[in-house]
Amino acid sequence: MANPLNTYKKKRDLKKSGEPSGNNKNTLDKCLFVIQKHDASQLHYDFRLRIGNVLKSWAVPKGLSTKANEKRLAIKTEDHPLDYANFEGIIPEDEYGGGVVLVWDKGSFEPIIEDKEHDKSLAQAIENGSLKFNLYGQKLKGGYALARIDKEKDQWVIFKLDDKFADGRRKPTSTQPKSVLSDKTIEQIKKEND
Ligand code: MN
Repeated sequence: MANPLNTYKKKRDLKKSGEPSGNNKNTLDKCLFVIQKHDASQLHYDFRLRIGNVLKSWAVPKGLSTKANEKRLAIKTEDHPLDYANFEGIIPEDEYGGGVVLVWDKGSFEPIIEDKEHDKSLAQAIENGSLKFNLYGQKLKGGYALARIDKEKDQWVIFKLDDKFADGRRKPTSTQPKSVLSDKTIEQIKKEND
């Protein structure tokens, strides 16, 4: 597929015109991401990116690491509705995913798009099994990558890219366990609903 900006670029001498080149990746619209801590039969973190009108979702048993290149298994799960991003509370034990959910981190993300991939949509990147993005969360910041390692099982890994936000000493899943919405822990939410 041709770069959709080819005609725009062909008509102009951008060095002279001073108009935007389209090469500044920082002007792309930022999109929502959310990570929910989910104390189900197995504690895990649900990592979700808004793509189109759904939240693309992965279950990450250990949660995301802030150490560069430390891979965490991420199992692709079903798309979730957008308003799921604010969901916090208790799913009844006899329901699918029964247990406490809290919003562990939330913010915007911005795809990191290489020149040759300018015409590639985020949905296409997921289809192809490879996606890089910057997170602008309260706990997690900077570049991350998602890479599919097993197509049949839809298993992926998610890892921190090596940038100024990479920090192997931070362990946010242990040191910052509270909700960014309510400032509550899993235990507090559980207790309130007892
Ligand atoms: Mn879950």
